[in-house]
Amino acid sequence: MKKQNKTNKKTNTKSLVLITAGITLLVAIFVLFINNKSENQELTNHPNIDNQPTMGDKNASVSLVEFGDYKCPSCKAWNEIIYPKLKADFIDTGKLKFTYINVLFHGEESALGAAAGEAVYKQDPDAYWKFHKQLFEEQPKELHDDLWITPEKVAEVSKEYVPEINQDKFKSDISSEEVTQEVEKDASLVKEFKVEQTPSIIINGTMLEDPFNYEEISRIINDQLEAEEE
Ligand code: CA
Repeated sequence: MKKQNKTNKKTNTKSLVLITAGITLLVAIFVLFINNKSENQELTNHPNIDNQPTMGDKNASVSLVEFGDYKCPSCKAWNEIIYPKLKADFIDTGKLKFTYINVLFHGEESALGAAAGEAVYKQDPDAYWKFHKQLFEEQPKELHDDLWITPEKVAEVSKEYVPEINQDKFKSDISSEEVTQEVEKDASLVKEFKVEQTPSIIINGTMLEDPFNYEEISRIINDQLEAEEE
């Protein structure tokens, strides 16, 4: 009888240990979940989007800024996967304005892509978005590290996709003082906002932990819209 009691006690202790381990695991998962949700970074301000290519209703209360690079494969993916949803759900419905700022993480090719975009924008802000979309489309799916953003390539894209702009002016604008200043302005925003990866997404002063989490993007935009209504 005494022996049986001892066995029962042992079993009880074992169960208790297992239950405690189980609870600890659940708490750990919960904490991890909470932490994951709060890894977006609240910034002290939002990038200044004056004279930056901006799409959508200029009076929209929510502003989303993409820091991107035409040489970056993740940016190509973001523009093909996330951007179309964003456009349909929020930009075309007048709830959001979308701004693109250049990042030059891949050297001369990034700089040329950026300058070409700025040169199109200078002549025709609407043409800019066609050029922008097409330049990402031109990025090779494989071997994207190989040289592909060349003066010939940007001239070809411009001639074919934005024939409405003056092509000679486009070519000379690329190396103009004005365009160079715009590219430098973007580079200083990259520094100011400590952009370390492309794409980086900032929505009304919140830097996203995961730019590919569309649910999170929608949640933040909707929260901002609701806050505006209150
Ligand atoms: Ca710019």
